[in-house]
Amino acid sequence: MSKIVDLKCSCGTIKGKLNVVPGSFFHVQCLCCDCQSFAAHLNNQKNILDEHGGTELLQTYPAYMEITEGQDKMACVELRRKGIYRWHTACCNMPLANTMGSEKVPFVGVPVKLMQFANEQEKMDVLGPVTMKAFGKYAIGEMPADAHPRFPMSYMPKIIGFMLKGKFFKKYKPSPFFNDKGPVVKVNRLS
Ligand SMILES: [Zn+2]
Ligand SMILES: [Zn+2]
Repeated sequence: MSKIVDLKCSCGTIKGKLNVVPGSFFHVQCLCCDCQSFAAHLNNQKNILDEHGGTELLQTYPAYMEITEGQDKMACVELRRKGIYRWHTACCNMPLANTMGSEKVPFVGVPVKLMQFANEQEKMDVLGPVTMKAFGKYAIGEMPADAHPRFPMSYMPKIIGFMLKGKFFKKYKPSPFFNDKGPVVKVNRLS
């Protein structure tokens, strides 16, 4: 059964909802250097990353995410040319989402930290365990034993299936991040 989860930034200005639909998400942890650079760009590593430099994400379809309050506090940065768009809050410098640079890609990575759960058990019931830890070679300190050094190839067929399904059913829209004219805010390009 799908479940609607409340989203809230750490200061409470930006609020939203995420529809967690079984079979249409990946619960992952990303240890890559870009996610760590993003946290450094926001100057907020302590509140964003875990002790290994990891970020817990739910990767799903943009159509399942909605921002209901605080849209004017949304910001977006592109760390390098043709990189992914990293959406964040301007109020409290927390990551909001990762998307591709095109509104036609049925993909969004939503930080689990935004999700409001009553307790760990409820979180486990809705999201299940982390099923993949990627880019462990960038971990701070020792690489967690259950992490993959890069990206596990065994995951590729699942990702491709997810993308094809998302394309076919047009799950890239409506998106809280793009409208007919492109990104909803001006993208800050650091490159
Ligand atoms: Zn905030
Ligand atoms: Zn990453």
